[in-house]
Amino acid sequence: MKLFRKLIPLDEALKTVLSYAKPTEIEEIGFDDALSRVLAEDVCSPIDSPPFDRAAMDGYAIRGEDSFGASPNNPVLLRRRSRGEGEKKNEIMEGEKNYLPIQTGMPMPKGSNAVVMLEYAKEREDTLEVFKPVTPGKNVSFKGEDVKKGEEVLKEGRLLKSHDLGMLASLFKSSVKVYKRAKFGIISTGDELLDPKEYFEGEKKIADVNSYVLAALTKKNASPYIIGIVRDDYEEIKNAISLSLEEGCDGLLISGGSSVGKRDFIADVVEDLGKLMFHGVSIRPGEPTGFGVINNKPVFVLPGYPVATMSAFELLVRPFLYAVHGVKEERKKILAIASKKIPSAVGRTDFVRVKLLCAENGYYAEPIRVSGSGILSSMTKSDGFVVIEENKEGVEEGERIALNIYD
Ligand code: AMP
Ligand code: MG
Repeated sequence: MKLFRKLIPLDEALKTVLSYAKPTEIEEIGFDDALSRVLAEDVCSPIDSPPFDRAAMDGYAIRGEDSFGASPNNPVLLRRRSRGEGEKKNEIMEGEKNYLPIQTGMPMPKGSNAVVMLEYAKEREDTLEVFKPVTPGKNVSFKGEDVKKGEEVLKEGRLLKSHDLGMLASLFKSSVKVYKRAKFGIISTGDELLDPKEYFEGEKKIADVNSYVLAALTKKNASPYIIGIVRDDYEEIKNAISLSLEEGCDGLLISGGSSVGKRDFIADVVEDLGKLMFHGVSIRPGEPTGFGVINNKPVFVLPGYPVATMSAFELLVRPFLYAVHGVKEERKKILAIASKKIPSAVGRTDFVRVKLLCAENGYYAEPIRVSGSGILSSMTKSDGFVVIEENKEGVEEGERIALNIYD
């Protein structure tokens, strides 16, 4: 059996990988297509929002000062400003104790500065009885109260969320600049693999999990392109890689055959077609991970076991995709208390699957017991993962650790 030439630490692997992260081009798309895309511009508001002073309640627009002294026993009486009062028929006149009915969202009539809620007034013909005073400014959304014209609302590098699309809509910003999605080809290798969409006849076959998991993970940032299953054959693998790169893939994620067994060819093929930058990373699971460059395009050599592939994805591929697509926001983490000791060796980075438990005094992270890289249920039974860094000899019970929730 061949041995890994050298296991390199994760930070070194990451540095190498990131040095090949070439940012994608920028494109302009409709704001409504921009969910999960990465903003390639700082968005400053072209308008004040709301664009005019508007009522925040249903009721009556008045000058707040005119309601001072009102009480249920001693209501203040106001006169409706109405038609036939010339140009200023929609204006609340100072000193005239006027009111005008108004609905939520309608522009405040000129001269008015507050809204008396329906509940605190009674209208009889053209007279309004006000039972409770309102201070000027009450129940009004002022122009620019939410966002001022010229104010920066979203920063370049942001992964756009649904409410961001709402903000863009509110500002009439119909299109935005975003980073183009790179096309990543996904290849699974192994004679034993069968596409899960095919009929399983109880043969000695293993479902190709990695193609679908990698496509789902990649989809968040890039455009995945499932190439399919390739047999453990040097030439077939070589052809599949060459073809995919010629056919417009910007990079490749290849899983299986990445170890040092007799039928593990991927690293050799990458070296044959281009340059293998490293093979073997000190992470668990995911040791048999490599990275190479063929025709200037990144090629990730990922482990066959699905959990190991996901670990390598989170630790190396995701940071690469973030860099390529200009993501400038950190993944949000939860600080949780380790419910048990989590052992780890110094010199190795561990990807530990944990369950998140919510207790009165905060969150607890409970490591999943069975955690071999062949145990896919260690993922489905967990809520997220904790990375135990190389220089740490495990985590003590009660220690606080940062937990990444799966997305
Ligand atoms: P390998 O790295 O090719 O030796 O594969 C290690 C283990 O992962 C073997 O048990 C394979 O059957 C399994 N495996 C490899 N590729 C996949 C895949 N695409 N989906 C699910 N399991 C896989
Ligand atoms: Mg294999």
